[in-house]
Amino acid sequence: MTKILIAGGGIGGLVAAGCLLLDGHDVDIYEQAPELGEIGAGIQQSANATHVMRHLGVLDALKEVAFVPPVTEFRLFDTGEVLQSLELAATHEERHKAPYLQLHRADYHAILSARIHDLKPDCIRLNAPAAGFRETTDGVILLLADGSEVFGNLLIGADGIKSVIRRQLVGKYRPKYTGDSCWRLMVPVDHLPSNFLQGKSTVWVGPARHAVVYFLRGGSLLNFVGVVELDEWIQESWTQKRPWDELWDDYQGWNQNILTIIQKGDRDACYRWSLNVHPHLDSWASGRVALLGDAAHPTLPYLAQGAAMAVEDGAVLARAIARAGSIPDALRLYETHRIPRTRKIVDGSFANRNLFHLPDETSLRREFAKRNIDKERADWLYSYNPLTADIEADAFAS
Ligand SMILES: Cc1cc2nc3c(=O)[nH]c(=O)nc-3n(C[C@H](O)[C@H](O)[C@H](O)COP(=O)(O)OP(=O)(O)OC[C@H]3O[C@@H](n4cnc5c(N)ncnc54)[C@H](O)[C@@H]3O)c2cc1C
Repeated sequence: MTKILIAGGGIGGLVAAGCLLLDGHDVDIYEQAPELGEIGAGIQQSANATHVMRHLGVLDALKEVAFVPPVTEFRLFDTGEVLQSLELAATHEERHKAPYLQLHRADYHAILSARIHDLKPDCIRLNAPAAGFRETTDGVILLLADGSEVFGNLLIGADGIKSVIRRQLVGKYRPKYTGDSCWRLMVPVDHLPSNFLQGKSTVWVGPARHAVVYFLRGGSLLNFVGVVELDEWIQESWTQKRPWDELWDDYQGWNQNILTIIQKGDRDACYRWSLNVHPHLDSWASGRVALLGDAAHPTLPYLAQGAAMAVEDGAVLARAIARAGSIPDALRLYETHRIPRTRKIVDGSFANRNLFHLPDETSLRREFAKRNIDKERADWLYSYNPLTADIEADAFAS
């Protein structure tokens, strides 16, 4: 039996643990936080991630707490004119054989951690920040911040965007500010006009900013993410409150639906933080250590795929270990397959920043008219199944 250590109990760490436990490995997660959980925000998961939820045995539980949107519409910031539409709900499920779900992060995380608990009750160690590692000929030692050491055959760095495992593996680098700052806000749907936006998921695009709006928890809660270009840099952290007036001012001149959301939101619960771009890594692994999720490929959220990539990583890593004859061979297989696809997604997310923030209606209409976003995403993004993809073929190299 392989002893696998995972630094970080976010969505990526939990999914990797689940896939590896199902394959019969012994897995321990070391999580820095004193308790498990996720922040109060939404997350969208397309079929490329929800296939893995079925594999883990949590898809039905997730569906019970999710919202399944009929479509995502890209709309002009002021008039609300629809520029493009993506078919979701039944069409997404028919095309890709798994659903498109919109979830509250806390629900998603709780369902995954309960499943890990079922598979191995003492899998997750809390209050256990990783500080680094030391590789040996036959394994790896995880160094914890309290000075203790744990031995395993493989260490997975799933410790997020500020990963200490990545820093030791590939060295320190300085992320670059994109110039984008990100707001988040939640609104109970009973505070909004009835049948608000008909349950549609919407992306509002406009000069130097955009907004993403969608529903959670059976449609009872609305999630708002607003991205505005700003010179001011503040911390890259989800939990910094900012004055409601700043959010209100940022969206003046925008469609009444956006203004209604901001008006009805909790004025003491508006959060904003800066978004950075991180350089692509040429390698995510050494002999006994691999990165996964945001530790490996932090991304801008403009394709809603950061966590979906982490989920894919976990499933592919488990398959690579099952396939290869040794851990170093498995890690080579894993990164060779995963780097091209995740790079394409990270670059695609960045490109959306330019598309969504074009300076006027004419250029927005013109650039959206050149695209068929529904087909583009169906062709390569959502159609990927990490449980069946040919991991020995470098299918995503450009
Ligand atoms: C505004 C916004 C919207 C988004 N929307 C979507 C979306 O709709 N769909 C989607 O797929 N993705 C989305 N994402 C991206 C997604 O949130 C992330 O990609 C995903 O959460 C990454 O998961 P992870 O497990 O790799 O990292 P994290 O969620 O950051 O988890 C890392 C874990 O490691 C722990 N940790 C950190 N350091 C240590 C240490 N030294 N030792 C031990 N533990 C440690 C942390 O406490 C945490 O529990 C969005 C992101 C943003 C910013």
